[in-house]
Amino acid sequence: MLGLYAYWNGSIIPIEDVKISPLDRGYQFGDGVYEVIRFYAGQLFETGRHLKRLQRSLNELFIPAPINMDELEKTMHALIQQENLAQSDGMIYLQITRGAYPRSHGFPKGPATPNMIMYAQTYPRPDIIEAGAKVILHPDLRWHRVDIKTLNLLGNVLAKQKAEEKGYHEAILHRADVVTEASTANVFIVRKGVIWTHPANEAILNGITRLVVIDLIHSLGIPFVERPFTVDALLTADEVFLTSTTLEVTPVTMIDDLILGEGIPGPLTRKLQEAFTRHMQAHSTSETRRASEETHI
Ligand code: PMP
Repeated sequence: MLGLYAYWNGSIIPIEDVKISPLDRGYQFGDGVYEVIRFYAGQLFETGRHLKRLQRSLNELFIPAPINMDELEKTMHALIQQENLAQSDGMIYLQITRGAYPRSHGFPKGPATPNMIMYAQTYPRPDIIEAGAKVILHPDLRWHRVDIKTLNLLGNVLAKQKAEEKGYHEAILHRADVVTEASTANVFIVRKGVIWTHPANEAILNGITRLVVIDLIHSLGIPFVERPFTVDALLTADEVFLTSTTLEVTPVTMIDDLILGEGIPGPLTRKLQEAFTRHMQAHSTSETRRASEETHI
């Protein structure tokens, strides 16, 4: 459920008071970046990595950061407090655009200040984390810099819509014969005890959950390669799973009409899910709780 407030260019205000210009370049060109950050029981998860990726996305698009990253982190905690979500599972959405300026493709020639919006919402852990997801295969129709987390998501939107029309949860994307990622998640496969995922280059978003899971794979001593794999390797894999901020580690049980393995989540996927939950419980920052305790002194 969406909250009542938003952080908008420097202050937290009722969300209905946010007024965005029709000339905003996010609206006109998708000229901006975003992040989605999870919180569990009001405690933010992997904030440092999300903010680092946000700064990188801004740098790649030459958009000056409208707020410094320490301040941004404090503001996220303040928003969770303001919304009374200190005990809830939820997520924070934030986006920064290049700002409003009369429409012209090149960057604004005069003063335009980036616009930043951020809001919180409750978000329970989805059932498919336990039950497994059904996915379709879909061509990857996106541009060639999907490593930047930009607002341009039409390739993702159309693929996800195709999946939903079939009553499925996700779309796994491929460029020619190579599997890149899913429409809102990264893809891992297990073959003969080895875990594979596409390397972090310009063809995929380097997911924060992907990075967490790679750390967990290493700490569990499971053989792992960061190497492109084919559609055929996907379809003949022993296990397939997705990772994302909201999907955590989600097993894939069906691809189009093919039931994977026995149609139930595989053993290595389950092992990583358990490791992920332990990590999440240990590493959600206690900053929010501290802030909350300080306010109540
Ligand atoms: N790839 C795409 C295309 C995504 O949209 C996302 C998440 N929104 C991911 C991967 C996973 O990234 P993260 O783990 O940071 O949520």
